Amino acid sequence: MFDIQKVRNDFPLLQNTIYKRPVVYLDNAATTQKPRIVIDNTAEYLSKYNSNIHRGVHYLSEKMTEAYESARQTVKNFIGAAHHHEIIFTSGTTESINLVAFSFGEAFVEAGDEIVVSQMEHHSNIVPWQMLCERKNAHLKVLPITYTGELNMTALTSVVTNRTKLIAITHVSNSLGTINPIKEMIQFAHARSIPVLIDGAQGIQHQPVNVQELDCDFYVFSGHKIYGPTGIGVLYGKEKWLEKMPPYKGGGDMIKTVTFEKTIYNDLPFKFEAGTTNFIGAVGLATALRYLNDIGRADILKYEEELYSYALQKMQTIDYVRIIGTAEHKTSIISFLLQNIHPFDTGMMLDKMDIAVRTGNHCTQPLMKFFGIEGTVRVSFAFYNTIEEVDYLVESLKKVKQLFS
Ligand code: PLP
Repeated sequence: MFDIQKVRNDFPLLQNTIYKRPVVYLDNAATTQKPRIVIDNTAEYLSKYNSNIHRGVHYLSEKMTEAYESARQTVKNFIGAAHHHEIIFTSGTTESINLVAFSFGEAFVEAGDEIVVSQMEHHSNIVPWQMLCERKNAHLKVLPITYTGELNMTALTSVVTNRTKLIAITHVSNSLGTINPIKEMIQFAHARSIPVLIDGAQGIQHQPVNVQELDCDFYVFSGHKIYGPTGIGVLYGKEKWLEKMPPYKGGGDMIKTVTFEKTIYNDLPFKFEAGTTNFIGAVGLATALRYLNDIGRADILKYEEELYSYALQKMQTIDYVRIIGTAEHKTSIISFLLQNIHPFDTGMMLDKMDIAVRTGNHCTQPLMKFFGIEGTVRVSFAFYNTIEEVDYLVESLKKVKQLFS
């Protein structure tokens, strides 16, 4: 059974006092804390096996290569991919999306074509497509949302046309917590032979993900948001697309042969992994995924759901709290405003009470514009947060309100 105290003991940072008490860390959508096993395992590989991968014949290089490729296998199993070579290690979600925008764009997008994103996307899932559209003279189209913060699925038929080359949509909104109907979206798109990229930066850690069941064409996420190290991320792509896409970066490891006249590129996945990759990060990420599996994904998700419902229900009862985004299906994130108090001031006051939250536009300026606000206060939960922490947050918000009135 899920043992919250045991889980909390696994995370050294959660034991730290910032001002007066152990930190109440509610900024998990920005980055998650790392379990000791990830910290230790990363240190172990650095101190015992550090050596560049793929190129060495010596023991250390072989050992490190083995760990790196085994990490790829762990990721493959975690997301239910069909082949290990469909897993490309990147530096994170942002790089994964840039890779697809560049490389898919080079292969498949022409002047007059269209890419569809939604109104609730993170800048990382807008700007790379905008850059592609500028390069190719293509058009970026936007799927509108409703005031509850849900995708307007009925608008799909007018936004998607026979010039649409790809739909890029977030699994879970980092500003609202909305869980998007990605399966339905993928079915709609595939009925028109359009591939779909899912930005899983906020999805993978809070939702079960099986890329074959989803049938998504690309799924991307960041290691640091799922209890792994920073600087490592994943691009899952279906073999049929990755095979046809040109490399994104040139350099070592992504080639089979090089002459000044012609270079023959390497096979998947190496074609997309030029230069020295973050092999230590990949091992750390795999350790984090195995750690989650060991605790039990189903138990984690169930606990998270209970904690989130409790927090949402508590926050909804405070009359001076305005929650931004009231979708029916939400997870892990609550964005809100305290009546007449600037989000920044709320965040600063909460910090003094040892509560870490995020304030601002959360890299979703078009979404904030839609709601006619500059930003929000965002609390975002992980499975190491507790009911007591939610209660403390609610009490602290009352204090903030009193102090400002
Ligand atoms: N997409 C979403 C939905 C996010 O929440 C984030 C980060 O907050 C990103 C993309 C970018 O992730 P990273 O900065 O790890 O590349």
